[in-house]
Amino acid sequence: MKTASILGVHFHAVTLQQAVELAMSRIRARQKGYVVTPNPEIVDLCRKDSDFMRVVNHAALVLPDGIGIIYAAKILGEELCGKVAGIDFAESLAAAMAKEGMRLYLLGAKPGVAEKAGRNLCVKYPGLVLAGTHDGYFSDEQEAVEAINACGGADAVFVCLGAPKQEKFISAHIDEIHATLYCGLGGSLDVFAG
Ligand code: UDP
Repeated sequence: MKTASILGVHFHAVTLQQAVELAMSRIRARQKGYVVTPNPEIVDLCRKDSDFMRVVNHAALVLPDGIGIIYAAKILGEELCGKVAGIDFAESLAAAMAKEGMRLYLLGAKPGVAEKAGRNLCVKYPGLVLAGTHDGYFSDEQEAVEAINACGGADAVFVCLGAPKQEKFISAHIDEIHATLYCGLGGSLDVFAG
């Protein structure tokens, strides 16, 4: 996959449709990995936090969230296929998962928000299975890990804790969580909850 380096962050040059297809292929193949959607603020955080930079650059998909990244690529002479906003990726992935009756777990946001987001997504995309939900204000990360595993795992987990917390959570726990694809998606659950 072609990449474009913006201040050390290696973005993948893919369209929204290609990103969803790649994500679906990985889920079908049960190939564990994660997706990150850096915006300019996240690129800036990466420059100040080498551990975070390492986590971001280890993602299976690094999607350019926002026009600021596209402009930066242009200025630096790097090629991308346009922006792929996290919220658009999340919605298109949920739609594709629904067609194959896949299981989605939603982690993050204030109590009640993930449930509401899940209900709305399931109404909009019949066939989607809501594996479970957990709010993002746990004091012990192990509690969230166990909650996901207790529901029988999932094909994908939307991890919506804000950056860099969500990416670091994914990187720390990916091996022990019974799920295939992990997506760091910031405030997406608030949007889906309406
Ligand atoms: N959040 C959370 N746990 C925390 C801190 C934040 O679940 O400890 C949630 C917050 O409620 C919001 C999301 O993470 O739903 C972050 O949203 P924001 O728009 O700030 O993130 P961005 O999209 O800018 O990364």
